[in-house]
Amino acid sequence: MTPTQKGSFRLFQFAGVTVFLHWSWFVVALFEIRDPAGRYHSLAWNAAEYLALFGIVLLHEFGHALACRSVGGRADQIVLWPLGGVAYVSPPQRPGATLWSIVAGPLVNVVLAVPMTMLLVFGETLGWWVKGSEVQTFVWWLWVINIVLLVFNLMPVYPLDGGKILWAVLWFFLGRAKSLMVASIVGMVGVVGVIAFAVVAHSIWIGIMAAFILMSCWRGLQTARAMVRLERLPRRDGFLCPLCHEAPQAGVFWQCSHCGARFDTFETQAKCPQCAAQFAMMKCLNCGGLSPLDAWIMPPPAGR
Ligand SMILES: [Zn+2]
Ligand SMILES: [Zn+2]
Ligand SMILES: [Zn+2]
Repeated sequence: MTPTQKGSFRLFQFAGVTVFLHWSWFVVALFEIRDPAGRYHSLAWNAAEYLALFGIVLLHEFGHALACRSVGGRADQIVLWPLGGVAYVSPPQRPGATLWSIVAGPLVNVVLAVPMTMLLVFGETLGWWVKGSEVQTFVWWLWVINIVLLVFNLMPVYPLDGGKILWAVLWFFLGRAKSLMVASIVGMVGVVGVIAFAVVAHSIWIGIMAAFILMSCWRGLQTARAMVRLERLPRRDGFLCPLCHEAPQAGVFWQCSHCGARFDTFETQAKCPQCAAQFAMMKCLNCGGLSPLDAWIMPPPAGR
């Protein structure tokens, strides 16, 4: 259900991150802008407010993307769609790096709140607008939107930022798999809160979001269970993944893309025993990363 680059327009590129806009954004924009909610006298202000909302969302997503890149992770695209934005980030598989990539998003909203609050407090006294004018209403709603986004995102409901923060913090103590399991279960319980939020706010969008969260928690739980199974498998000595520093599993867990045979790529030096196809890369089952054979770290043999 999450949008991908497919069906999206490329908007621009900044700091190595390409921003895409999903087509459904236009449909919802049209619908939202023509529904004035009685705040402004002209549709132009409605449009400005809607665009500003996505400006804030975009800055938030850039927070995630740039933080992820700063710790050596991959983040090269952001897709905006009606339910917000998605920054495709894959930080290095370490709890600290993951935590920073997540926290940086909400941190942007905290930083944005400072000038917005000052503007609200001083705008009238400095004579930048007349009390009760549309500019004042606009700045006020921008402030509200920013705070609502911040509070909503910090709910401890996976995959919202708050839930991901919970996951990354627990990761330090429980490991990657068990922490994801706990965060997914807490998320499923927390969805009740999101549904209550939707009812109070009379928002169909938050209702759709609740369904999306429930699905993501379910997927998170399945992923965590698969991870636990992988963690329990026996490991092969003599190799460490250059990306996550974990030893590979010992067993026929790799499949030849030519003939479909299953084999242990570390036993055969990445060569299929059935059709003799030679592969350049060996896949790490722990982090999903691909590395050539000579990049896999050979720990020095234990001295005797
Ligand atoms: Zn976020
Ligand atoms: Zn790895
Ligand atoms: Zn083969």
